Amino acid sequence: MAAGATGARIVFFGSHKQPSYVIETCTVPTNDSLKDGEILIKILMSTLCSSDIVNIDGKRELKPPCVLGHEGVGEVVLSKRFRNGLPAVCIGDRVVFTMCDACDSCDMCKSDLKECCLLKNKYGSTGLGAGTGLNGCFATYMVLKKGTEVVRVPHNVSDVVASPSNCALSTMVHAVSFAMANSKLKQSVAVIQGANLMGLYGCALLHEAGYKKVFCHDISCERLRLVPKFGGIPVLVAKEYDSRNTHNIEEGTADVVIDVSRQWDVIPYALHALCHRGIYVFVGTTHAEDASINIDTILSKCITIRGIQGYKSLHLQNAMDFLSKTVDKYPYESLISSPFSLQDFHMAVALARTKRYNRTAVRPQQFFTE
Ligand SMILES: [Zn+2]
Ligand SMILES: [Zn+2]
Repeated sequence: MAAGATGARIVFFGSHKQPSYVIETCTVPTNDSLKDGEILIKILMSTLCSSDIVNIDGKRELKPPCVLGHEGVGEVVLSKRFRNGLPAVCIGDRVVFTMCDACDSCDMCKSDLKECCLLKNKYGSTGLGAGTGLNGCFATYMVLKKGTEVVRVPHNVSDVVASPSNCALSTMVHAVSFAMANSKLKQSVAVIQGANLMGLYGCALLHEAGYKKVFCHDISCERLRLVPKFGGIPVLVAKEYDSRNTHNIEEGTADVVIDVSRQWDVIPYALHALCHRGIYVFVGTTHAEDASINIDTILSKCITIRGIQGYKSLHLQNAMDFLSKTVDKYPYESLISSPFSLQDFHMAVALARTKRYNRTAVRPQQFFTE
């Protein structure tokens, strides 16, 4: 690539600034400016996650100015990463990557818990002053830092299908792997609370794992519409989630309940539905701090409760393998909008706010082709 090539990026200045983000051109790093372990990728596709909207609305602490976006697919342009003396990736490889890097030296990293690294930086929220500043997916180029795991995208998985996999899908692969490894009565009945993107991926993952029934609960008919297409059984629940209403499932018959709704009034129903030694997994992020839990039920049923945030590189690899295996079986593309160019990023944000699609896509390379 020519030295000093020009790229473009969406830079966020903070929700209180006017405008809060702008598109600007930037210089793309050369091989000489990359550090050991870094990989320069051309972003082929990126997707707007609900947490990007949370960031744009100023509901989470960021380090602006920064380049937004943590979900994407890239093509390797330059690499200074080697494994056993050989290139770890090839120029032209189509890759996805972990949402965060890891320091490899903190207590968590040393304990093989890189996903919990105490010094990790998340793409899409790390300041422009860190490294090259190309730390987000809403840009034509991005630099993957040392400590970011990279996985090749299989040939039969399109850019748009692969793009959200480093966030919602890999996290659900982690959650379902935990549930599978720890539930006593395997592959019988599971309940997912919430029919958002994680919920839909969860239906497909549990269905493919052999669960005979995968119920998916939500208060929205619109969100539940896609559940049968992903191997789940839709269950419309009232806003006041009533633990006495058993919704197709008898007390104590669910092996696993996975909560992706972040609405904590759903907890009594999950505890009611779970069997003896059942597994209850909370997935994702929340701003709520309090929830009431019936301790007596947890003790008498010996229920395991686990929170899941993040994932290991193995889960990202498994996510890619899963998509490759099932891409003709489930309508993954229908979850994602047609892509917008970087110039039309504000329109992508407007569409994402309507929640018409589970993800809104951006194709940054259109900046130079239109
Ligand atoms: Zn995300
Ligand atoms: Zn660490």
